Amino acid sequence: EAVTNCVVHGYNGTTGEITVWAALTKDHIYVRISDHGIGIPDVKKAIQPFYTTKPQEERSGMGFTVMQAFMDECKVTSKPGAGTEVLLSKRIGSAEDLVDHA
Ligand code: ATP
Ligand code: MG
Repeated sequence: EAVTNCVVHGYNGTTGEITVWAALTKDHIYVRISDHGIGIPDVKKAIQPFYTTKPQEERSGMGFTVMQAFMDECKVTSKPGAGTEVLLSKRIGSAEDLVDHA
């Protein structure tokens, strides 16, 4: 969802660099997706369910809502004209959690 947003909205049909960074710790996964595209003027508004600036392209405005639902954290920072960064994190279980201690 975040990468598609960079393509569809950030670069709006032009080309540009998209960076995907990921890190894994013992019990968390972190994914950061960023672009140097047009940016988001009002992030609070953009992350609302069903908010889209591209209704004519049959976008539903549910991308951020899906990211929030699947992850524990979805932090969006953006600067108009400079780009957007989405940081996602989720707590994951370790193999230890599968051990039957009974
Ligand atoms: P859907 O994801 O359901 O196809 P959508 O992309 O419009 O629709 P969201 O992913 O929730 O919905 O994004 C909401 C709005 O935030 C977008 O319509 C766009 O205006 C803005 N936006 C999101 N990501 C970016 C980005 N990387 N650069 C610029 N604007 C963005
Ligand atoms: Mg989207």
